[in-house]
Amino acid sequence: MMKRKSSLLVFLVLTALVVSSASAYVLLSPRRTWDSAVNITVDSRGNSTITDSDGGGTAVVNAITSNSAWNGAGTGTRVTAQRGSVAGWRLGDGVVMLNFRDPEHACNGSCLAATFTGYYTSRGDGTMRITDADIVTNTRNPLTSAREADGCSGEYYVEGIMVHEVGHVLGLAHSNVSGATMYPTVSACNNGPAAIKADDKAAIQDLY
Ligand SMILES: [Zn+2]
Repeated sequence: MMKRKSSLLVFLVLTALVVSSASAYVLLSPRRTWDSAVNITVDSRGNSTITDSDGGGTAVVNAITSNSAWNGAGTGTRVTAQRGSVAGWRLGDGVVMLNFRDPEHACNGSCLAATFTGYYTSRGDGTMRITDADIVTNTRNPLTSAREADGCSGEYYVEGIMVHEVGHVLGLAHSNVSGATMYPTVSACNNGPAAIKADDKAAIQDLY
């Protein structure tokens, strides 16, 4: 599941989808949840295109744990995070990491970031437990953070991108509601997805 830059091609594909489905959030299939708050290690190397004090690390930690994001949806603390090393990066190991690079070579072209969501197990009662999820970032796209002093020009806000990706970590798929955090595309210099919208809130309240 990935967040892409807006492009004509992507827009046309999405229009076809919207016509054939209701406008609302979508959960990952099969439906699945974490047992407790997910802890995310945010790559302390940062992203080289983000010229705040630490390459976006603190900006991302603050954004994904903010009450404007998933922790403010009325379902308790869903996400904790801290900057740290991703040297032990491995998919499926139960250690949730946000990598500012892409060791899996999974996120190319217009992809801004992507989340590996394929790790879950049955609880034995008909429900599914998420056991791991990891986020990678395309280093070829210029990113910025709201903590950068020089404003935004042709860049993509890392806060909005990563609140979207953490939505995937928590069990959400893409919404077809334009402007929702879980909408699959974002324009340059639009940090709107950093704050979840009513559709996103309904999704997380459905799951948790
Ligand atoms: Zn996505």
